[in-house]
Amino acid sequence: MRTPNLEAKLELLMSLAGDDKEGLPTRQLPPRLRHANDVGALRPLNLRPVRIGSNGPRTTLMRILMTNACSFNCHYCPMRRDRDMPRTLLKPAELVRIFLAAVEREWCTGLFLTTGIPGRPVKVMDDLIEVLTLLRVNHRFAGYIHVKMVPGAEVAQIERLTALATRVSMNLEAPCGDTLVRIAPEKNLGHALVQLDRVRKQVNERRNEEREGRPRDLLLPGGTAGMTMQFVVGATPDTDRTIMNRITDLYAGRGIHHTHFAAFRPIRNTPLENVRATPAVREQRLYQTDYLLRDYGFAPNEVVYDADGNLPLANDPKTSWALAHPEHFPMEIRTASRGQLIRVPGIGPASARRIVTERMTTQLRGLADLRAMGVVTTRAAGFLTLGGKRLQSVRWSEQLGFWRPEDEAGAYHIQYEVSPGTFR
Ligand code: SF4
Repeated sequence: MRTPNLEAKLELLMSLAGDDKEGLPTRQLPPRLRHANDVGALRPLNLRPVRIGSNGPRTTLMRILMTNACSFNCHYCPMRRDRDMPRTLLKPAELVRIFLAAVEREWCTGLFLTTGIPGRPVKVMDDLIEVLTLLRVNHRFAGYIHVKMVPGAEVAQIERLTALATRVSMNLEAPCGDTLVRIAPEKNLGHALVQLDRVRKQVNERRNEEREGRPRDLLLPGGTAGMTMQFVVGATPDTDRTIMNRITDLYAGRGIHHTHFAAFRPIRNTPLENVRATPAVREQRLYQTDYLLRDYGFAPNEVVYDADGNLPLANDPKTSWALAHPEHFPMEIRTASRGQLIRVPGIGPASARRIVTERMTTQLRGLADLRAMGVVTTRAAGFLTLGGKRLQSVRWSEQLGFWRPEDEAGAYHIQYEVSPGTFR
C-alpha cells in the first residue's frame, strides 16, 4: 500500500479530533477546529523530521500546537491577541488520540507540544499536564516528549510537567528584563528565570540520580534530555554579546542542553511589521558561537565581537577568533593536539579526532588526506602547515568579496505570516 503524503496524513489525523457520533459515517469536527486548514503554519498538527543529536539517527516528531489563540500580545508574534486570524483549539483528549494514532501508523516516534495561552496560564499548564499524564500514565507512552513551558505556571505544575517530559523548553525571548517588556508587555524575565531554575534543578537532580545508578523511569524521565531556551534576535536592541553573556551565565548552572535563536521577522499586522528583518546570518553566527562554547572548548571571553558588541557577520566566529590570534597560526598538522586542531577553521571535533588517530600510523601527505578525514580544506588550508610547509598561502577568509553581509545589498522589506522561531 502506498504511504500517504504529509497532507493526507494530517487530514486523516485531524479528522480523529472530531466527535464519533452514533449513526454518523464520519466524525464531525467541532467549530473550534473549523479553520484548522486555513491557518497555514499555525495549524494544530505537523510532522517534522529531526535528527537526534548532531550526528544521530533521523526520526519524525509530531508537532502539536494545542491552540493558536493567545491572550498575550507579544509584538513579534503571529499568534498575539490583537491579530485577526482564525483560531483553533485541540482539547487534551483529542490531541492524545491524534498523536497515538500517528505513532501506531509509524508516522512519528515522539511529540513536540507547544501552545498559545488563551486565558489563565495556570489553566493552560493544567491542560499540558493532562496531555502528558494521559500519554505516560494511561497509555504508557515511553517515547520522547518535548513540551514548551508557559510563563506564569505554579511551582507544583512546573514540577509535574518536568517529571513527565523528556525535554522542557522555555522562551526567554530577550536577555534583559527591560528590553523584553518592550516587545512582550505581559512577560517578565525575572519570573521566567525563576521557572527555568525550578526546571533545571529537577533535571540536574534526575541526572545525578542516574549517575549514581538509579535506572531511568521512561514514564517519568524528569527532563533528562536537558532544557532548551529560545531568544528572538534583533527584535530588541540587545547585542550578541549581551545575549551570549546571559546564555553562558545560565549554562553555568547546568541542566540546559542548548539554545535556540530565532532571527526576528516582521509579521504582517503586528506592531513590528515595519521593522527590518534580522539577517539570517546573524542567527547562524549565534548558533556557531553556541557550538564553540559547548563543543569546542572555547571560553566566553575568547569570543570575538565587533566594536558594537555584535558578532562579525562576514566570518564565522571561529575564523574571527583565528584571525584575531595570528600567534597560534599556521598550525603544524603533524604535531598539534586535538584541542588545538579544533580551533582551526574547517576542522571540527570528529575530523580533529581522526587526524590525531590517523597520523599515529599514517604519514599525512596533503589536502586530499585531510579532505578524506572530513576537513573543509578550502577553509582550513590557509591556517595549516604540513611538515613545515604551508598548505595554502592565501586564507579563504581574506579573499575579497563584493560586499559584506551586513551591507544587505539588494535586500528589500518582506512581511511574513509566521516566524520560523515560533515552534522551536
Ligand atoms: S509569543 Fe507566546 S505568549 Fe506571546 S503572543 Fe505569542 S504565543 Fe502568546
